[in-house]
Amino acid sequence: MNDIGLVTKKNSRRSVVAVGNVRFGEGLVIIAGPCSVESEEQTMAIAKAVKEGGAHMIRGGVFKPRTSPYAFQGLGLKGLKILKKAREETGLPVVSEVLDTRDVSWMSEYVDVLQIGARNMQNFSLLKEVGKSRKPVLLKRGMYSTLSEWLNCAEYILKEGNSQVVLCERGIRTFETYTRNTLDLSAVPALKELTHLPVIVDPAHGTGKLSLISPMSLAAVAAGADGIIVEVHDHPESALSDGDQSMTPDQFSGLTGKLSSLRSFMEGLN
Ligand code: PEP
Ligand code: MN
Repeated sequence: MNDIGLVTKKNSRRSVVAVGNVRFGEGLVIIAGPCSVESEEQTMAIAKAVKEGGAHMIRGGVFKPRTSPYAFQGLGLKGLKILKKAREETGLPVVSEVLDTRDVSWMSEYVDVLQIGARNMQNFSLLKEVGKSRKPVLLKRGMYSTLSEWLNCAEYILKEGNSQVVLCERGIRTFETYTRNTLDLSAVPALKELTHLPVIVDPAHGTGKLSLISPMSLAAVAAGADGIIVEVHDHPESALSDGDQSMTPDQFSGLTGKLSSLRSFMEGLN
């Protein structure tokens, strides 16, 4: 891989991306929440449940990149106001996906972290725009992207002056059809060799299957991930998006319990 630039690891120094009290790159950061913000009642219930279950940050989409233009597209501004309320109520920072360059600036008033989704990883105008903002960015891996292409996209953001970038492995398209994507966990230790940026894993979009989320979350942490992001819904069967890969609050707190045991075990190894 060619020497990419600002994102490249040059010594043993690792970057820490701070979002309030949450520090990516130190310990394990757990992000949880609904795929989509659907209503105030739904989001507040899930936000409180995931806080109780051990989440450090809340996720929720208000601009949804859907395959079909007839599928639920997200609540937009109304959803952002709900996320802001969830943050006030729980004290947890929130992350939400930005789809359009025109939304970067005003959306930053409502969220703590701007997510660039897999489908927009190489949207260079969007990368430059979030690079000019001073908000931390969660940059997901494009579903057809190599590590080099992904790191070059992170470079676009750093080059504009924003070094608060967290990378998120979320699976890539392969010939396998059983899972929604193939979660490339080798990306985690590989990125640790290549870049100083923190790396988290999304086993929900990475597998698309509820039964695989806990084992792949544990595997991600064993591989050295700095965090995980999962989808939680109080009524997964009636979720407006991604119900098949959404955990119930009980399943989520079962997972966080296992993750803390694994972390303690791993600390003993060092
Ligand atoms: C999401 O996190 O809601 C999402 C759409 O993920 P991805 O961009 O990884 O598909
Ligand atoms: Mn989703």
